[in-house]
Amino acid sequence: MAKQEDVFKTIVAHAKEYGFVFQSSEIYDGLSAVYDYGQNGVELKNNIKRYWWEAMTMLNDNIVGIDSAIFMHPTIWKASGHVDAFNDPLIDNKDSKKRYRADVLIEDEIAKFDEKINKEVAKAAKRFGESFDEAMFRQTNPRVLEHARKRDELHTRFAEAMNANDLNELKQIILDYEIVDPISGTRNWTDVRQFNLMFKTEMGSTADGAMEVYLRPETAQGIFVNYLNVQKTGRMRIPFGIAQIGKAFRNEIVARQFIFRMREFEQMEMQFFVRPGEELKWFDHWRQTRLRWHKVLGLGDEKYRYHDHEKLAHYANAATDIEFQMPFGFKEVEGIHSRTNFDLSQHEKFSGKKIQYFDPELNESYVPYVIETSIGVDRMFLSVLCSCYEAQDLGNGDSRVVLHFPAPIAPVKCAVLPLVKKDGLPEKAREIQHRLRFDFTCQYDEKDSIGKRYRRQDAIGTPYCITVDHQTLEDNTVTLRERDSMEQRRVSVDELEKILGDVVSLNSLLKKLI
Ligand code: ATP
Repeated sequence: MAKQEDVFKTIVAHAKEYGFVFQSSEIYDGLSAVYDYGQNGVELKNNIKRYWWEAMTMLNDNIVGIDSAIFMHPTIWKASGHVDAFNDPLIDNKDSKKRYRADVLIEDEIAKFDEKINKEVAKAAKRFGESFDEAMFRQTNPRVLEHARKRDELHTRFAEAMNANDLNELKQIILDYEIVDPISGTRNWTDVRQFNLMFKTEMGSTADGAMEVYLRPETAQGIFVNYLNVQKTGRMRIPFGIAQIGKAFRNEIVARQFIFRMREFEQMEMQFFVRPGEELKWFDHWRQTRLRWHKVLGLGDEKYRYHDHEKLAHYANAATDIEFQMPFGFKEVEGIHSRTNFDLSQHEKFSGKKIQYFDPELNESYVPYVIETSIGVDRMFLSVLCSCYEAQDLGNGDSRVVLHFPAPIAPVKCAVLPLVKKDGLPEKAREIQHRLRFDFTCQYDEKDSIGKRYRRQDAIGTPYCITVDHQTLEDNTVTLRERDSMEQRRVSVDELEKILGDVVSLNSLLKKLI
């Protein structure tokens, strides 16, 4: 565990050192849980967004995009339930004066039982060697079964308390399981209270009677309130979807794990409007489609799992998270929710406007049902960064840090490097760079030894280095070095666009999706 934590710290430090992610307002000692993306980070982030956007809007005839404002009429948040119910249960430790989410403390306690089970399995696997039957061991070993029973017992009690919004019971669970504050080590807890996560501000001058508005906590409501606009102007027929990428804001109680939980973050959401009664079929469709989108990136199929929700929001009739194996465990990256017709019905009620669809095939009007796919750009970024980072031992005392980014989303696609800074090589290298820059993000670097320059490109995940040497001037060929294998081959300058294009274009990913 400690080792994984160290790896994570190293990745965070690398992200800063190489211009991916900076703490916000750093020269003023930083702002908690707010981050800025640097020169390489913004390219990676934009590429992730483009992969999502094009997969949604270009590969589906019936999905269109919008870009709605962050400020919205405050009644929207009343209608959506956020004013009354977008709360987290918080608890303070009186000794450390630290604040925690009560539900997270209990979830961590539940996870400990799984850790114990995994330890038993690992121990037994070592003892029995090749003949070890893991499935059988998990089903029959008394210690494993006892841990599993205790885990399920706690899980059931926790789910019931959450469903009933029973804050006293949450506190009682924390006391009964003797959960201690990781900092003070004590059990000196306050009562559990609800805390609303929305940021408030004022719009208009106070003299005019300013209106209290919220920074949106999700982008979804901007889609719902534009449902009629898009359906009518785009002449959309059900089933159809509306996609949006944009900032969201949540005053998270506990902000930790770098960009995993931020107070200002970005979401990519798609709301898919369907006939009532067909929502579970579409839920299943999107559940599978979205996992496929993740897997096509090639970060490792085993790093993903579904987590079906026990506690459903009152409006939902099915919900799944796609979790990714971060250095700190499997964590939610995306949520897929069957939201029934809750949101549109609420907006009908609160706005007084009819929000319905006339279905020509059924010859009837109804409020459409909705399947939502909602993914955090920053969490996606983190999952890519963590799984692509490798500190590689190259033998003979040599090593490198390399980011094995999937080539189509790498921030820089190629670097053109003159072997030496004279004899006309820089000029030739510049000429090649100018040719390539229309299609690829392409850097030019002539400082330091060629080995150091390769390392610098490895550290930001550039898939190809193109080295220009004296032979280039004679026969117009260059050395093409591939990041992961470090293999070098001689190719003609005229072939570069084709070789790179096949590997680094987003199309190479998109084509695998259909
Ligand atoms: P969590 O349980 O981790 O707080 P959530 O279930 O509240 O997340 P949703 O409301 O379903 O999250 O939001 C959809 C997606 O938005 C999440 O899967 C996640 O990727 C992203 N997201 C939510 N909150 C944050 C945050 N504070 N920082 C970064 N990304 C976030």
